[in-house]
Amino acid sequence: MKLFRFGPSGSEKPGVLLADGRLIDVSAFGADYDEAFLGGDGVERLRAWLSEHAATAPEVAATERLGPCIARPSKILCAGLNYRDHAAESGMAIPAEPILFSKATSALVGPFDDVVIPRGATKTDWEVELAIIIGARASGVTEAEALNHVAGYAVMNDVSERAWQLERGGQWLKGKSADTFAPLGPYLVTRDEVPDPEDLNLWLSLNGQRVQDSSTAQMIFGVAHLVSYISQFMTLLPGDVISTGTPPGVGMGIKPEPIYLQAGDVMELEVAGLGRQRQLVKAAE
Ligand code: ZN
Repeated sequence: MKLFRFGPSGSEKPGVLLADGRLIDVSAFGADYDEAFLGGDGVERLRAWLSEHAATAPEVAATERLGPCIARPSKILCAGLNYRDHAAESGMAIPAEPILFSKATSALVGPFDDVVIPRGATKTDWEVELAIIIGARASGVTEAEALNHVAGYAVMNDVSERAWQLERGGQWLKGKSADTFAPLGPYLVTRDEVPDPEDLNLWLSLNGQRVQDSSTAQMIFGVAHLVSYISQFMTLLPGDVISTGTPPGVGMGIKPEPIYLQAGDVMELEVAGLGRQRQLVKAAE
């Protein structure tokens, strides 16, 4: 299934993209896509509900705003330097263990919302990524068990302010957490529809020019490894997001001079099978 949320920010309603391309409102099912829904048998109950009600459920207008595809989770975690081609391009050694950092959950926005350059920011950058959405509590799980704890996948733009991430000391989360720095969606695509998450093309274009273009096959640490690895250090709860790292082509890496986001820029990005995002960049007011 492809699950989405629509409506004004903060009061989104749940929807489903049907196989025939219709977007339907499933508010009558009675649950948002949150920890209780994902951690219980919500996906299976929704599937059963759809078999009776999909034909008569109200359609969602194409003009509706889409929100993040899940309700605000307990955590957004990210892997750094997780693409072989990115590590090679940067001249950096392949990490022996996943590099982890977090992003404030208040950074979440919808896939077509504006990305706002915060006041004082000078090096705001893009990162197309495959995001894992946790579906069952995971604590100390093995790699063999890990995928049973995954609800599905979504597209994430891990927007980053490089000066705050890299030049201000301390942890990366300072440069990763501003409002609008985590567009997520349009869909949570359930795991059954993504047979091989480590074989998906992904790309990002800036003002129509493709700057990132790779495949999740380039990931150093795959989905099962990341879920298992992180669950050794903390409990992953249903709805938690793990963004799996970005391929080469971020603004910071452009030669001879880096390129950073400016007001008026447009980013478009896609992970094959998971949908496409588009954001207009604005300056903080
Ligand atoms: Zn990233």
